[in-house]
Amino acid sequence: MARKPEKIEIMRILLVEDDPSVAASVIDGLVNASMEVDHVSTGKEAISKALSENFELILLDLGLPDMDGQDVCRTVREKSTTPIIILSARSEEIDRVLALEFGADDYMVKPFGMRELVARIRAVARRTGPADATPPTATQDIGPLSIDRRSQKVFVNGVDVYLTPKEFDLLAYLATDPGAVYRRNDIMSEVWDTNWYGTTKTVDAHVAALRKKLGNQEWIEAVRGVGFRLGVPDS
Ligand code: CA
Repeated sequence: MARKPEKIEIMRILLVEDDPSVAASVIDGLVNASMEVDHVSTGKEAISKALSENFELILLDLGLPDMDGQDVCRTVREKSTTPIIILSARSEEIDRVLALEFGADDYMVKPFGMRELVARIRAVARRTGPADATPPTATQDIGPLSIDRRSQKVFVNGVDVYLTPKEFDLLAYLATDPGAVYRRNDIMSEVWDTNWYGTTKTVDAHVAALRKKLGNQEWIEAVRGVGFRLGVPDS
């Protein structure tokens, strides 16, 4: 079958963040992911830019020097459908329901890994944008492990490993930022459901099954009292 020539779309992102060091690392990460970033550090500038220029997505810090990020979000949302991801510090932690209520499409709690942020940006863009706006994601290789998110297939040293859909989702989530620790609650809400009130034993059971199927007990590492991380060696 003939493939459509791949069109490289540069996503244009508006970053609203008053902390220079956070802004610098986010800009760095997004530029590395072939995105173009416009950066402002106040709510006023954010609203005027968001409503006068075209962006594929807005990353919005909640704690801004001149106004509350929630009000920026509401004001922009009244006139624009540009997707918004809230960046919230732990001290101003919000829940997803509240974020959705003031018009955001998703939120991330600082500190976050750049790979996770890029993955979320792409996910929100896919969800909200035209069907073929984002190029297909390639297979992710982490040492002997390969994860193909399009076909939901996992390979260890090239050998196909059968995973249940939830096992796949769990592995793919931990692989968003290999080496980063994911909290149990985040794992539950991301992999299972935002409104999932089940027992954390489900996570442990799936981790145990994954370890067995991947044939290595050490790749998914438990971090006591926090959660799990994917620690596959690089080679
Ligand atoms: Ca801030």
